[in-house]
Amino acid sequence: MNTVGFVDPKSGHTCLWSNAYILVRSPLLNFCWTRFKETKRQSSERKQMNSRDTEERREAAAAVEPAEMAASAVDGAAAAALRSVLRRVHQAAERSGRRPEQIRVVAVSKVKPPSLVQQVYNAGHRRFGENYVQEIVDKAPQLPEDIEWHFIGNLQSNKVKPLLTGVPNLAMVETVDDEKIANHLDRAVGNIGRKPLKVFVQVNTSGETSKFGVDPAGCVELVKHVSSGCPNLEFCGLMTIGMPDYTSTPENFKTLANCQTEVCKALGIAEEQCDLSMGMSGDFELAMLGYPMYLPVLCLPFLRRLSDTYSSGKQVEMGSTNVRIGSTIFGAREYPKKQ
Ligand SMILES: *Cc1c(COP(=O)(O)O)cnc(C)c1O
Repeated sequence: MNTVGFVDPKSGHTCLWSNAYILVRSPLLNFCWTRFKETKRQSSERKQMNSRDTEERREAAAAVEPAEMAASAVDGAAAAALRSVLRRVHQAAERSGRRPEQIRVVAVSKVKPPSLVQQVYNAGHRRFGENYVQEIVDKAPQLPEDIEWHFIGNLQSNKVKPLLTGVPNLAMVETVDDEKIANHLDRAVGNIGRKPLKVFVQVNTSGETSKFGVDPAGCVELVKHVSSGCPNLEFCGLMTIGMPDYTSTPENFKTLANCQTEVCKALGIAEEQCDLSMGMSGDFELAMLGYPMYLPVLCLPFLRRLSDTYSSGKQVEMGSTNVRIGSTIFGAREYPKKQ
């Protein structure tokens, strides 16, 4: 797009029309407007919910212990938070040109009690994520069998068997990051005789040594191993954690999207056959949408270049199809203090 500059005959100022044009065209405006309406609706919903809450409480007050009352208020909040997250995912899916049912929402329930998981389940959700083998093995039997559990923590070889035997309804392991763990999982699934286990290959896109995952350069090789050397595993896509401050490091998600392109080329599969698991409470919309939707606010100086991107239709898309959301649904986590 070109900037049209002219001198306003009245004021004598030079005007640049391109800026106005960008604002009018920008999906950002649309986005702000939707978010504004959404926020208004949410706050009126919250008000409604609160008033319903007070009535219920008044009725229940005579019968219920104060501690239980507090717990049920928190539980109600988790179900409401789930609905709000699902709505945001729905909208982000539409903005990124996907059907909402193409996006998997994994409710990450680590360190949260089974009662809270049950509340979110009762609100209709079936997909939950856990990080620690001992915790999921304890929790799963206390909760309904039709939950699809995703294991999203680092997995050690000696924990594979307890995980698989303790959680028969384990749907997915998102954290396969080397051949050794892939082989262990493959063998254990075969020995137990359960149905093939869906897996994601975890990629370390941020280069931080504290993060697990295969190097992006080794990604294709590991995926090939999983899909052709592990008959009991079903390769479903790639997963990454990325840096917490997405806005400064959108390249983490871009890196995973590039890995997806390479994997699809190497295996001769369509992108729909290689999901991307990225995005958590703080950045799931960004992971689904891609940064051009957000950057205009962050870096006004580059507005013109971005508008070029829009007008030529080359919008960079992160394209996450599997978001893992914990604290926004369940509330902030409190880890037991280390002794
Ligand atoms: C804890 C965790 C999440 C959820 O994080 P929130 O910021 O609470 O949404 C997602 N993915 C992984 C791998 C996690 O360990």
